[in-house]
Amino acid sequence: MQSREGQLFDLLIRGGTVVTAEASALLDIAVEGERIAQIAPPGVLLAEAKRVLDATGCLVLPGGVDPHCHYGLKVFGVEAETQDHSAAAAFGGTTTLLDFVFQEPPASLHDAIRAKQEEAAGRMAVDYGFHAVLTGEIPFEVMDEIGDVIRGGIPTIKTMMTYHWMCDDGHRFGVMQQVAEHGGLSVVHAEDDAIANWLTKKALREGKTHGAYIAETRPALVEEAAIRRVLLLAERTGSPLYILHMGAASGVAALAESRERGLPVYGETLTPYLSFTSDKLWDDANRGLLWNNYPTIKSQSDQDELWAALADDRLQAVGSDHFLVKASDRYEKMGTTVDALQCGQAGVELRLPVLYHLGVHQGRLTPSRFVEVVSTNPAKLMGLYPRKGTLAVGSDADIVLLDPRATWTVRHEDLHMTADYSCWEGWELTGQVRTTVLRGSILVEEGRLVGDPRGGRFQERRLLPEVIANPRSGGLTRASG
Ligand SMILES: [Zn+2]
Repeated sequence: MQSREGQLFDLLIRGGTVVTAEASALLDIAVEGERIAQIAPPGVLLAEAKRVLDATGCLVLPGGVDPHCHYGLKVFGVEAETQDHSAAAAFGGTTTLLDFVFQEPPASLHDAIRAKQEEAAGRMAVDYGFHAVLTGEIPFEVMDEIGDVIRGGIPTIKTMMTYHWMCDDGHRFGVMQQVAEHGGLSVVHAEDDAIANWLTKKALREGKTHGAYIAETRPALVEEAAIRRVLLLAERTGSPLYILHMGAASGVAALAESRERGLPVYGETLTPYLSFTSDKLWDDANRGLLWNNYPTIKSQSDQDELWAALADDRLQAVGSDHFLVKASDRYEKMGTTVDALQCGQAGVELRLPVLYHLGVHQGRLTPSRFVEVVSTNPAKLMGLYPRKGTLAVGSDADIVLLDPRATWTVRHEDLHMTADYSCWEGWELTGQVRTTVLRGSILVEEGRLVGDPRGGRFQERRLLPEVIANPRSGGLTRASG
């Protein structure tokens, strides 16, 4: 395709290897305004540009889409990092993320969404959307709001099966019926509360109070039991389902059985589960409990299976579960015993770099599959595609330049999150984000914030028909064969 004589693009990205979920190729990308205007082999886009980025030697990726982040969340006596620090996402190659709105009585769901919108407005550096979380004894009036909320651009409705905001299966069944009826996607934190509580009680009786015993009180079975129950509810209500932060191989197997039967059910795992195992929790000298998350990290064999499942599409997406609590708050306010355990991940900035290093550099994922699980699939499943999640003419110009040969050592002082530690401290990573472009504007360049740290925009989301109907999803979440 020849560009028009005298045409002036706003931005031209030249000389890089463009990687999408489908393929990798040497291509130049021209941007006009906020969108991708043309993509062509080197030498074809002859027009001038106001700004040219030389991407020689770099991979040119669609901006990362993190389906799972928490900003400003107040719980367990602590307050997580706020939206004011969300530029860290861009430093790590993420240009869109999803946060969570928690509805609790007496607020209506609409009230809760309005409050979260106000909290986030003008404070996000990257584009964002919200999942809606329904909690406790969900009243009929809130159930009745679900359809309107889905139509309003928040189509992912979450319930929790354990912890502070849990609801029982009766309320979950009611929510999932509404979600099915109104074309939404049910989202769930799947851990069996009753089994976990029993095992915790038993551990305490046996004097097993160290926080690391959480690996025994919330073993793989706790995930699997909840996943099997919620898969049944999904099938019987007709609701599509997205299971957050899966860490257990047996849970992945349960999901895979339902997917093989053609049900529209999907699974996410987390960067920490792909990086660490529960042995780390015993490392008192290095404050090993900082490695805990909810659900807790599992064993080496679970981790091996997560990688295999990510490669062969039994799992579809990787989130960070960014919920940044300072180490001192975790140790002093959240506690260190098995029945009062700390959680939270300082991870949004490291999701792409760690996944690139462990996945592509170490040979577990192809470059296209990496792009698929960190960007394309989250965009498809969350109703952002093809505006987000790919590099195509007409898509938002959310573009990341990643140098696949650069090596660097993680030091929390060098990162842009507010954490006073990093679980990946000292890791030597191959692959580094050089430049991040959000809707045509350069946000991060060569490790410096050069764009608007408050320029992120709320994204109304619309689910793809094939995501929610999906009899035999086939290639939907696996384009690269
Ligand atoms: Zn979370």
